[in-house]
Amino acid sequence: MTRAMFMILVVEDDEVLGGVLATLLEASGYRCERAATGERAIIEARSHRPDLVLVDLGLPDRDGTQVIRAIRAFSPVPIVVLSARTLEAEKIRALDAGADDYVMKPFSSPELLARVRAALRRNVRSDGALPVLQLGTVSIDLAKRTATGADGPLHLTPLEYRVLECLARNVGMIVTQKDLITQAWGPERAADSRGLRSYIKMLRQKLEPDPGRPRYLVTEAGVGYRLCV
Ligand code: CA
Repeated sequence: MTRAMFMILVVEDDEVLGGVLATLLEASGYRCERAATGERAIIEARSHRPDLVLVDLGLPDRDGTQVIRAIRAFSPVPIVVLSARTLEAEKIRALDAGADDYVMKPFSSPELLARVRAALRRNVRSDGALPVLQLGTVSIDLAKRTATGADGPLHLTPLEYRVLECLARNVGMIVTQKDLITQAWGPERAADSRGLRSYIKMLRQKLEPDPGRPRYLVTEAGVGYRLCV
């Protein structure tokens, strides 16, 4: 699919920023629709069926989180939040409402476009197929559950595979601690964030060239983790 076939709904009340976003996305080959209020956003999301929605959290008529929840009620479209808010609680609230990722304002154009590509890719790949991950010299076949490093086979535990699989299904995007725990451990056997941290640490020791400065299993402070490939 060429990018021109992807339509992105930009929900932003700031006229200047909305224009900048539309210009940037159109210059990258996407089509754009714009909405300046939450109400308009929900109408546009219904009628235009965008491939991705970019939502500013601070809208004049309602909170962006409410917009996310309303769109989620009728559409699985990838939603990326644009937020000037630095509070972790706000990010978690938006992700819990159904957003797939967020980009902090002020953002760089390459970063925003990378997040957009990641969200669109994930949507295309949602057929359930598991990717073979290549993290530097380490290759991980998630379907076969085998991993090979520069020095030969690597042993990962079933739980480590499940954590990695959950991150790989959302590659390039943030996964909250809560989602990782629920998906890897199961809803009734929930671990705590400390347990999760120790698994991430073990995974880094096996997969990262420099576990102290992770390049692939990246921490999003207080919110969750992101797999960068
Ligand atoms: Ca705003």
